Amino acid sequence: MALDQETLTLLIDAVRRFVTERLVPAEDELANSGAVPEDIVREMRDLGLFGLSISPDYGGLGLTMEEEVRVVFELGQTSPAFRSLAGTNIGIGSQSIVLAGTDAQRAEYLPRLASGELIGSFALTEPDAGSDAMSLRTTAQRDGDDYIINGTKRYITNAPIAGLFSVMARTAPERRADSISCFLVPVGTPGITLGKPDKKMGQAGALTCDVVFDNCRVPASALLGGQEGTGFRTSMRVLDKGRLHIAALCVGIAERLLRDAVRYALERKQFGQPIAEFQLVQAMIADSQAELYAARCMVLDAARLRDRGENTTMQAACCKMYATEMVGRVADRAVQIHGGAGYISEYAVERFYRDVRLFRLFEGTTQIQQLVIAREALKAYA
Ligand SMILES: Cc1cc2nc3c(=O)[nH]c(=O)nc-3n(C[C@H](O)[C@H](O)[C@H](O)COP(=O)(O)OP(=O)(O)OC[C@H]3O[C@@H](n4cnc5c(N)ncnc54)[C@H](O)[C@@H]3O)c2cc1C
Repeated sequence: MALDQETLTLLIDAVRRFVTERLVPAEDELANSGAVPEDIVREMRDLGLFGLSISPDYGGLGLTMEEEVRVVFELGQTSPAFRSLAGTNIGIGSQSIVLAGTDAQRAEYLPRLASGELIGSFALTEPDAGSDAMSLRTTAQRDGDDYIINGTKRYITNAPIAGLFSVMARTAPERRADSISCFLVPVGTPGITLGKPDKKMGQAGALTCDVVFDNCRVPASALLGGQEGTGFRTSMRVLDKGRLHIAALCVGIAERLLRDAVRYALERKQFGQPIAEFQLVQAMIADSQAELYAARCMVLDAARLRDRGENTTMQAACCKMYATEMVGRVADRAVQIHGGAGYISEYAVERFYRDVRLFRLFEGTTQIQQLVIAREALKAYA
């Protein structure tokens, strides 16, 4: 159920204030230490950021998609690694349970995911199965009342701090969606080993690592929804929502980058005048503004369609493709407007330029979005 307008405005104002007053000043600390400061984690929990998309029945805020993207436009105004901490709980780390969990699984995990007490990670990708997720090799073999999981998952966001993994594993050998099941595996389960945190190009503080399952025994009650063969389809539905969330984040980041670029252009003088007065600089500002506006409209439209219960697979892929590519161009122009300063880490645009590169890669690369969009368009216009 949607929030009333006043509550939504209060929430967005509170998130905006938190971002401006607490997160932006802590960006350098996050980049240097590679960890979100504890007091900020507590404040994120108090604001309800971990439970944006989880029902109030389980302690979350239960936002509609439109409300969620509006909040995420605000969260995008700072280093994306802050958002990443809560991001898996809002999206891929909780939504399988929201969509397909049994009542007992929802009751067991959702309240702790909504509060941020438990961090949920989504483990689909493997060393040899990225874009071709259906080729995953991790197996879950039935053994009496249990399943035994074996396999390696790669680049798993928040794995180093996770309390719960949603693990996609093969319960049948055939290459078919219904050969893959999802298991909810708490982190202390014997047989789980974590790799070293990956050294990444950007988003310091957003942690990823390998997760290795070696004869990891879980009870049959760990099977999501109590049903084999539903994991892959559920994952694709989870990613549909995740793609809108990521697109909204890119809109927020683009706004921040444009603001930084405009402020710099107004201050920096060359040839006796602010560089903002040069029309070639204005062209970069105009292109960024127009593209960011287009992405914002797309994301809001797709979110509203989703809230009306429509299938938004095509729209979510369009938003993910366009907004992630858009923020890359906006970041590039922001660096250009800063001149040499844009290459120096003292200026935030240098960090954002690296941070935003990820968005075209995870939750489906740009090429995978193109395949999804083309598939849907070929059906629609045939
Ligand atoms: C920081 C980070 C965090 C991540 N977090 C998670 C997570 O939490 N959980 C999780 O499960 N995974 C996660 N991933 C994995 C991510 O989703 C994959 O890296 C991504 O899906 C791409 O897979 P890949 O790296 O194997 O690339 P590949 O699939 O090997 O792709 C390589 C290139 O080939 C292209 N390509 C592949 N197939 C096709 C095709 N059919 N047509 C055209 N081009 C194609 C791709 O677009 C890409 O350009 C994360 C990755 C990173 C880097």
